[in-house]
Amino acid sequence: MPLPPWLESDVSLKAMNTFGLPATARRLVRIRQDADVRRVLDSPEVGRSAKLVLGGGSNLVLTRDVDEVVLKVEVEGLRLVETRPDAYIVEAGAGMTWHEVVDRTIANGWPGLENLALIPGTVGAAPVQNIGAYGLELAERFESLEGVDLVTGRGVTLDRRMCLFGYRDSVFKHVLAGKTVITRVRLRLPRPWVPVLGYLELERKVAETGITQPTPRQVFDWICAIRRAKLPDPAAIGNAGSFFKNPVVTPDQCRDIIGRDPHVVHYPMPDGSFKLAAGWMIEACGWKGKSIGRAGVYEKQALVLVNRGDAIGAEVVTLARAIQESVYGRFGIRLEPEPVVV
Ligand SMILES: Cc1cc2nc3c(=O)[nH]c(=O)nc-3n(C[C@H](O)[C@H](O)[C@H](O)COP(=O)(O)OP(=O)(O)OC[C@H]3O[C@@H](n4cnc5c(N)ncnc54)[C@H](O)[C@@H]3O)c2cc1C
Repeated sequence: MPLPPWLESDVSLKAMNTFGLPATARRLVRIRQDADVRRVLDSPEVGRSAKLVLGGGSNLVLTRDVDEVVLKVEVEGLRLVETRPDAYIVEAGAGMTWHEVVDRTIANGWPGLENLALIPGTVGAAPVQNIGAYGLELAERFESLEGVDLVTGRGVTLDRRMCLFGYRDSVFKHVLAGKTVITRVRLRLPRPWVPVLGYLELERKVAETGITQPTPRQVFDWICAIRRAKLPDPAAIGNAGSFFKNPVVTPDQCRDIIGRDPHVVHYPMPDGSFKLAAGWMIEACGWKGKSIGRAGVYEKQALVLVNRGDAIGAEVVTLARAIQESVYGRFGIRLEPEPVVV
């Protein structure tokens, strides 16, 4: 039986993941509106098959060809839905590039996302891991989202409380993992705008430039410059950003680790716990710049694993496991990967 025209077969995913790992999707459907999801669920060809939701592929390690039906989210659109005394509510299609939304909201006079500039990937994936950088997390700018339930085909709306946001975490990594396609995200951009400048590298920019009251565009430019100086551009060298989460430990655990190495980089958290710098621990174990096969640890930032050219997913996973073992052996801490391994 011929496949329906909306169902693509044997699609290479190499250019659809920022690590540049080789993998083929046996079947792929582009989702441009909610009805496209329902059409998949109702279809005799693939309705009952397992599904994999794909955004920009910037938080993925593909270790195999994908038998699940790939739902490539490409919902577009950006609009101001409400102006409240204390916030602009802006809605973005889940398939939009996150950085473009940051850029366009500033250009339109709705600032507030600038600290999250240049994070690769799509709007729809941003709530999945509650993206964060330079002193700001999506949760602080999130109003609600809409999506389609992959079991019932019904439309769903989730507010901030229902998303159970945590550090690089949300309900979409737990109870709702693989169960919902997010199609639109509503952002709450506070009025009046107040810059978030508490992060050390931003404090340095203020000191260097003498600009104590930057505009949103200046903060955006600073963030872009800081990120470009230390993170590899996936277009030039394949990677998925930070490969491990920074471990959060109790004060007792932190004391134990400081006992093992008094230089360990750690930050006190508001709830009394401590966040440890995973990149520092990886570097302390001697991994910076090293490789296993064609997968390596980035020379400028040990938290980032890179594709040194034609690596396969298994090489990245082998390298990640070797790093985890070293860090556990030296510090007694199990590093948790940030990207989703398929
Ligand atoms: C150079 C670089 C720098 C990075 N810096 C940061 C950073 O500073 N902070 C940070 O938090 N992250 C960072 N990341 C990680 C990554 O950019 C984010 O996690 C991003 O949100 C992933 O978006 P994506 O569209 O590429 O998701 P994908 O990789 O396509 O998917 C990631 C997960 O989300 C799910 N998903 C994707 N779209 C949807 C949807 N519409 N509905 C439901 N589920 C969906 C997928 O099934 C998968 O489980 C970085 C990555 C790179 C390559």
